Amino acid sequence: MEYEGIVYRPPSEARSLIIQVTIGCAHNTCTFCNMYKAKQFRIRRMEEILADLEEAAKSRYASWIERVFLADGDALVVKTEDLLTILARIRELFPQVSRVSSYGTAQDILRKPEEDLRALRDAGLGIVYVGAESGDNEILRYIHKDVTAEEIAEAGRKLKRCGIQTSVTLISGLGGRGRVTRHALSCARLISEMNPEYASFLTLRLYEGTPMYDDVVSGRFERITPDEIVDEMELFLKNVDSPGTVFRTNHASNYVVLAGTLNDDIPAMLEKLEEAKRTHRYRVFRETGDLL
Ligand code: SF4
Repeated sequence: MEYEGIVYRPPSEARSLIIQVTIGCAHNTCTFCNMYKAKQFRIRRMEEILADLEEAAKSRYASWIERVFLADGDALVVKTEDLLTILARIRELFPQVSRVSSYGTAQDILRKPEEDLRALRDAGLGIVYVGAESGDNEILRYIHKDVTAEEIAEAGRKLKRCGIQTSVTLISGLGGRGRVTRHALSCARLISEMNPEYASFLTLRLYEGTPMYDDVVSGRFERITPDEIVDEMELFLKNVDSPGTVFRTNHASNYVVLAGTLNDDIPAMLEKLEEAKRTHRYRVFRETGDLL
């Protein structure tokens, strides 16, 4: 099977069979994101998708496949009846698969009727990864997310009502200087309202060619320091109320690795942040194109 372009998937899908049902991201306007800029969005033809599944089923690793991730950027944009065809074929070819997942924008989730989401759950869609990025409408407007915090929260509640797990990603430092408090508090409010099964933060990294990179170069956006990122995280943890949410900051971009369950492990995670700040022990992440 040949993938088209670079394929991204959540860290927790590292062992999953990845099937591209779309190429690129239908939204593709977020000003910090460079993941799909080189791809012209399209939904792949059903014959191509099914051929990929059949090829994977013939491989010698087929019996080891337990999870399937539907790529690229927002597979939920695909019509429900087509997703159901794909999920049914996955079940036929890989009866041992316990979970199928995909990225999904809040817009895609809100567009689908609840009966569609329930049908997708019954057909095997177990979790949707939602890139919320922030809970603050001004920041969401600035990054061209084209969705409000209220809509993201409603999308999360809708998935929950339909029995599909949600994993929400936020971005530390996304508000820049002057918006640390509002970003932290709005993220805490959003997660509290959604009470997702999983939540995580990446740290803002900027790549040449993105509008936000240009904003930094021209001085229109000022990035915050690692100490301020930790302050922001502390404020988030002190204000979030989302019992049972599995929380992680273990992406390569995070300065301090946190892992725990909200709300029980908040005190231990705050202690870890204090310790990191006192000793200035931050992980360093460097990648071509990043400004730091
Ligand atoms: S952040 Fe997500 S929705 Fe926005 S352009 Fe990138 S892949 Fe698309």
